[in-house]
Amino acid sequence: MHKKIVAIDMDDTICHLVPRAIHYHNLLYPDLPLTMEQMISFDMTSIWHPQCNEDIFFGRPGLYEELEIFDEYTIEEVRKIATEHDVIIVTAARPSSVAEKWNWLQRRMPFIPFENFFMAKRKYLLNFDLLIDDGPHNLIPAKAAGKQTIGIPRPWNKHIQDQFIMKDSWQGMSELVKRLLTEQPSQG
Ligand SMILES: [Mg+2]
Repeated sequence: MHKKIVAIDMDDTICHLVPRAIHYHNLLYPDLPLTMEQMISFDMTSIWHPQCNEDIFFGRPGLYEELEIFDEYTIEEVRKIATEHDVIIVTAARPSSVAEKWNWLQRRMPFIPFENFFMAKRKYLLNFDLLIDDGPHNLIPAKAAGKQTIGIPRPWNKHIQDQFIMKDSWQGMSELVKRLLTEQPSQG
């Protein structure tokens, strides 16, 4: 029997991107400081400084290599999931950030091989069994396609949190994954 495929997002799922991007935004534009609580949508164009843009906010050179791990349990839990299942890391990386993201991953999770590192914005095209992600645009289609999902609660997914299994820490994540993947896929 083939192993079940567990797709795990990177940004704001196993590491903290938006808080770091906010930090640099606020250094550049101290007259318009942003907070995490304002981040209620993936479209941040209306709240960041008028001089800010995608490249400035998400494209700072080196940004993706310095991101903090999500929490103290993340690495060990991903390792545990990877011993039982086929873990793929799936990230909607900007082309310019791919090398930084791969470096980050190798430094923290060297047990993830290159062939399990996927760059994909359209994650719904991938044939995984379970998705761990913070993005409503990824969680909603995965659930609609009958896949298991675990959401990471963030301000930008507040409006869907009551429709998904959400987990705000990686502590015990491998147990939850095991439970969901051994359940019969019947709940709707
Ligand atoms: Mg994400």
